[in-house]
Amino acid sequence: MYQKISVLVIEDEKSICDFISRTLELNNYKVITAYTGKEGLTAITSLMPDLILLDLGLPDMDGLEIIRQTREWSSLPIIVISARIQEKEKVEALDLGADDYITKPFGTSELLARLRTAIRHSNKTNAGDHVAQRPYKSKDLTVDFDKRLITIRGEEVHLTRVEYKIVSILAKNSGKVITYDSLINQIWGPYAGDNNRILRVNMANIRRKIEANPGEPEYIFTELGVGYRMLEDEG
Ligand code: CA
Repeated sequence: MYQKISVLVIEDEKSICDFISRTLELNNYKVITAYTGKEGLTAITSLMPDLILLDLGLPDMDGLEIIRQTREWSSLPIIVISARIQEKEKVEALDLGADDYITKPFGTSELLARLRTAIRHSNKTNAGDHVAQRPYKSKDLTVDFDKRLITIRGEEVHLTRVEYKIVSILAKNSGKVITYDSLINQIWGPYAGDNNRILRVNMANIRRKIEANPGEPEYIFTELGVGYRMLEDEG
């Protein structure tokens, strides 16, 4: 039986809530809305949505608290809705287990793209697809995880071990933002300390090797103060 994907929107600003509801319903999603954190938490447990869109600034509680409580028992995708200035909160939300964020004001296509990415990744995780992962491909770039081979227009790109690791983590999570800290932890381990500078140096080298114009990247984007996001896989 075909079932619509249900999205719980926890957002106290009615205009944003209405905009999201309209957009999602037009695109065949089922929408549930909650205007407070308390309503939101109840809806999560009683209605079991497939995805949550969560505003961090709620009237009765901090949105981060909702992520914390939900992650104690569930891995359902959470996309945070945040204001442009809330960099620290975005990072905190991602570190607490949010899957991604979208910055206000956002348009229809950005919203739908974020949803598709989050749902695709959650399906993948549930299906255990990460065991044998098919190659990443977008525009002229491919990353073959089995062969550990990166090509641009069919030409092999020579990367160092660390550079390859960075690209493969971003490619496996393409379309999603990965925080600086999360990348550093996965590459140098949790006791590596502050390796932000080394990460930046590596990224500059990667961009020189894969981007036509490193100053205006097409494949790996910087989310200022938060992390990196790789262009979504076309597959
Ligand atoms: Ca708000």
